[in-house]
This record gives sequence, C-alpha cells and structure tokens, in this order.
Amino acid sequence: MLWKRTARPLTIRFGAKTDVGRVRSENQDDYGRFPEMRAERDGDQLFVVADGMGGHEDGGRASRTAIEAAREAYFAEPDGPVEERLRRAFEAANLRVYEQAHTGATPKKMGTTCTALALKDAGAYLAHVGDSRAYLINRRGISQLTRDHTLVDALRREGVLTEAEAERHPQRHALVRAIGIERGVEVDVRQLDPPAVGDAYLLCSDGLARVSSAEIRDIVRADTPQQAAERLVDLANERGGHDNVTVLVVKIE
Ligand code: MN
Repeated sequence: MLWKRTARPLTIRFGAKTDVGRVRSENQDDYGRFPEMRAERDGDQLFVVADGMGGHEDGGRASRTAIEAAREAYFAEPDGPVEERLRRAFEAANLRVYEQAHTGATPKKMGTTCTALALKDAGAYLAHVGDSRAYLINRRGISQLTRDHTLVDALRREGVLTEAEAERHPQRHALVRAIGIERGVEVDVRQLDPPAVGDAYLLCSDGLARVSSAEIRDIVRADTPQQAAERLVDLANERGGHDNVTVLVVKIE
C-alpha cells in the first residue's frame, strides 16, 4: 500500500543495533521491525524496542515475548484505528509476559519496557511503557516523544529534583510502570505529527543514557540509519557500556 497524502510515496530507511555492553553477561534488550521483509514503502509498519528485566534469562525472555505478542496482536486487526491496535498490542504483550512469569509454583520477577512506533499510510503513532525512549529528529532539532515512567522522572517533572539531580540519582532506573508486572497495564498511546521527508525517529533503551540528545541529533542527521545505530551503540560502550544498549533508527526520505 502506498502513502496516501503525499505526491510521491515516502521511503522508509531503517537501521538497528543491539549490544550486551561491557559489564553485563547477557543482552536482555531486544528490538523488532515488522513486517521483517524489506518493504521500504510498505504502508503499515511497526518498530519496537524492549528492555527486559529479570533473573538469569528471564529478562531476555520478557523482552522477546513482549515484542512477539505485540507484533501478533498489532497485525491481527490491520484495518482498525492504529491507536487502538497499538493499545491492544501492548495489552497482549503485558498479559503474555505476566502469564509467563506466573506459570511456575513461585512467580518469577520478570518484566520489560516496550516502546513502539507505527507508520501507517500517512500517519505516525507511538505506544510506550517504561523508560526506553523515542525521539524525533528533523531540521528543527531533536525532541523526546516519550516520558520515562520512572519515579525519578516524576519527581523531576514536579520540581522536587533538578535535571542534574535526576540524571545522577541512584534510583533513576526504578520504573513505576512496566510490561508484565501486573495483569493490566496503562499504556501511553498517541498520534504524532504526520511523517515528512527529512524526519527521523529513534527508539532506544536506557543503555544510551550517557549519550546526549545533541550527540544523538548530530549522528542521526549525518549517517545512514544503520551507521547511526552502530555509532551510537559504540559511543555508549566507550562511556562504560554499563548496560545493554539498543538503538533503532527510522528515516523518512
Ligand atoms: Mn536497560
């Protein structure tokens, strides 16, 4: 299907990279781009980043499970309103991870963040739970499209903590919302401004936290999506690689 509201169809360029980092022994982050086949002008695409949490192997299972469940639910009803499809996709992801955690005698501690960008026809949509992030980069600059579902970010927004205090806070990664922790989940879903030629979207896990938004902006502008994703992951690793890191870049051309 072609993009409807433009004189010529927009081309979607995609790149992504995930890495274990320099400290952790396993990578519990994951990402997906659906449909998986090369379809730069496909009019219904879903991009997802998830950062899993849990004991040995459970975090990785949580992020993989969430992405797979979200993909299935999102494409199960291709004709519905996109915001509704995203909400159902995240609810399905939440329930599947929750049930996975509760199959044994003792519930496992597992969960995941999940941030998704949907491009459908001439529209862009976002769904988000946790502290992975989405940014928009274009000629005007870079803007963060998500807010972190962390206690520290809530305190920062209330003015209890300054920006600098929030960035260094020891509890800055403690989430107030995640996929798979409870039977239900509140999902942030919204329609974005329609994508235009020159726009780029970036989804990332919190492993990118030591790379500034100005650096993200400059690298995404200068490079192809794949090069940008790789350079940003390298930069996170050069600054310690304290966490798994995942970067997904979508450019509209
Ligand atoms: Mn992380």
